[in-house]
Amino acid sequence: MVLLVALYFVLKPREGNTQDIYRYMRCPNCTQKLRFRKVQVGSVGACSRCKKPFLFPEGTLRETELDGAHKHEEFTEADD
Ligand SMILES: [Zn+2]
Repeated sequence: MVLLVALYFVLKPREGNTQDIYRYMRCPNCTQKLRFRKVQVGSVGACSRCKKPFLFPEGTLRETELDGAHKHEEFTEADD
C-alpha cells in the first residue's frame, strides 16, 4: 500500500508549481499564525506551537490578507 502511494506521487503529472504555493491561517486553538502548502489542504496537520491537530482548511488567506499580518508576527510552519 505504501509503495502504491509512493508510485502515485512519482507518476502523478505535475500541476505547475502548486506544491510550492503557501497558504496562511491561524491555529483554531491558540491563534498561532501558521503557514502550510496548498497541497496540504484537506489533510490533517498539527499546530507546531500547541500540537493540536486540525484539518488544513480551504479558502485560506495569503499572508497579507491574514488579520494582523502588518504586525510582523512570525509565521510558524505547521507540522504535518
Ligand atoms: Zn496552536
